[in-house]
Amino acid sequence: STSNIVLNVNGIEVIYNHVILVLKGVSLQVPEGSIVAILGGNGAGKTTTLRAVSNLLKGERGAVTKGSIELRGERIENLSPADLVQRGVVQVMEGRHCFAHLTIEENLLTGAYTRRNKAEIAANLDKVYAYFPRLKQRRTSQAAYTSGGEQQMCAIGRALMANPSMVLLDEPSMGLAPQIVEEVFEIVKDLNARERVTFLLAEQNTSMALRYSTYGYIMESGRVVMDGPAAELATNEDVKEFYLGVG
Ligand code: ATP
Repeated sequence: STSNIVLNVNGIEVIYNHVILVLKGVSLQVPEGSIVAILGGNGAGKTTTLRAVSNLLKGERGAVTKGSIELRGERIENLSPADLVQRGVVQVMEGRHCFAHLTIEENLLTGAYTRRNKAEIAANLDKVYAYFPRLKQRRTSQAAYTSGGEQQMCAIGRALMANPSMVLLDEPSMGLAPQIVEEVFEIVKDLNARERVTFLLAEQNTSMALRYSTYGYIMESGRVVMDGPAAELATNEDVKEFYLGVG
C-alpha cells in the first residue's frame, strides 16, 4: 500500500545557477515512521535532495526544474520553508550547528518560533532534555563553548522544538568522533521508536547509517544507483566493496 508514504519524491531534476544540472531524475519514498538514509560520496547530490524537499534551494540559486515532491499527497515544491515547518517538516542543516553566541537553551527555544503556547513549549523543552541529558547539563553554556557533538545534538534538539513529524538530517556524523556519532544515532533511533518521528537523513558514513536506518538509497552523480532495505544493502557485495571499505 502507498497510503503510509509520507514523502514522495518523483523524478526531480535540480539545476543550480540556471545551468548546472545536479539532480538528474531522483525518486524516493519515505514511509511514515521510517528512518530512510540517502548515501553516497562527496558531491553525489544528497544535500541537494534534502534542500529540494525542504525548499532551501532558492538561497543557493537552485531550482527544481522537473518532477514533483509530495508530502502526504500534497505538492510542496512551491511552499516556503516556514510552510513546511507548519506541516511538520524540519531540516537540520549540514555543519550548521547552533547560534554560537546563544546558550544551549536559548538555541533550543529558537526552534519553537512558530509556536505560541508557552506551556507546550516548556513541555517540549523538557522532552528534548530527556532525550539529550547532555544538553540539560549544558543548558546555560554558550553554544560556542560546547563540543561538536553537543552542538549537533543542539541542532537536532532545536528542530524537535518545532514538534515535527519528519526531520531531514544532513550528515549528522560530520566532524564527530565515532562514539559521539553512535550516541547521536541512538537518540535518533529512540525518537523514531518512541515519538514516531520519521527521519530522512543524508550520510557519507554508510556503515553507521545502514545500522540505524530501515531503508537506504545510494546516490552517485545526481542519480539513485541502488536502493533497498538497510539490512540488505549492508550485506550486498557491491555496497561492501564500494561504500563499506571491505572487499
Ligand atoms: P556533500 O556530502 O559534499 O555535501 P552531497 O552528496 O550532499 O555531498 P551536494 O552538496 O548535493 O552533494 O552537491 C551535489 C553537486 O552540486 C556537487 O557537484 C556540488 O558541487 C554542486 N553544488 C552544490 N551546491 C551548489 C550550489 N549552491 N551552486 C552550484 N553547485 C552546487
